[in-house]
Amino acid sequence: MGVGALRKFEHLPKWPGGEALAPTHRWWAAPDNSFNNRAYGPMDTIVIHATAGHNSSGAMSVTQSGNASWHWLMPDEDESPHGDHVWRCVADEKKAWHVRKQVKFPIDNKRDINSRSVGIEIVNAQIGEGDPFSQWQVAVTAQTVNYYRSKHPDRRFYLATHSFLDPERRNDPGNIFDWQRFMSLLETGEPELVDVDDYAADAVSWVKEQGLMTGVSEQLFGGRDPVKRQDLAIILKRLHDGLKPADEG
Ligand SMILES: [Zn+2]
Repeated sequence: MGVGALRKFEHLPKWPGGEALAPTHRWWAAPDNSFNNRAYGPMDTIVIHATAGHNSSGAMSVTQSGNASWHWLMPDEDESPHGDHVWRCVADEKKAWHVRKQVKFPIDNKRDINSRSVGIEIVNAQIGEGDPFSQWQVAVTAQTVNYYRSKHPDRRFYLATHSFLDPERRNDPGNIFDWQRFMSLLETGEPELVDVDDYAADAVSWVKEQGLMTGVSEQLFGGRDPVKRQDLAIILKRLHDGLKPADEG
């Protein structure tokens, strides 16, 4: 009995500041023939997987074949490291092999997603309620994502489930993974706009997202300031240009 797919893809905001430490970890290195050098960068994507097995050693035995690897492995609740430490398996500088080479990234259609990503494997049997993800597994995975965000505060990371990237072949981590709780553990870092009234807040975030209007600063939109006719003209032109059917390429 498998689990349903969890197809999720998020573009996280930049890290809001402060340092997020990596979770406590030990090395369980994947063999040298199971990873290689990244072909391009920057590393801007984190892929969430589940192992479809019962323990960490079962997962690590797969790396011995020289066909698959990952950067992090999150132990299951009946393993002794659970609640204490996670495993690091491939160095960040290296390309782990956790997504099929042919799969295209949805934003720019580039293949070789492994070159731009970090792979996190969570030990889970993928049998539904028979083996739920533990709270700790969800939390420590979120901590790992935040660690990369704080290490590269200039980047907006993409966060993807394996089943989103490769829907024909993969279901992991499966719909028993509590994505909502996971996302709530990722400090979103959306700066609060302090000068926008509630009745307009939704509209203001929409025009900012669409690029129709920019703010004055991270926390100021100029929400109660008047608009000049020439500024309105710019907004209308941006709206018009955005409404044109997109050309290929
Ligand atoms: Zn996977």
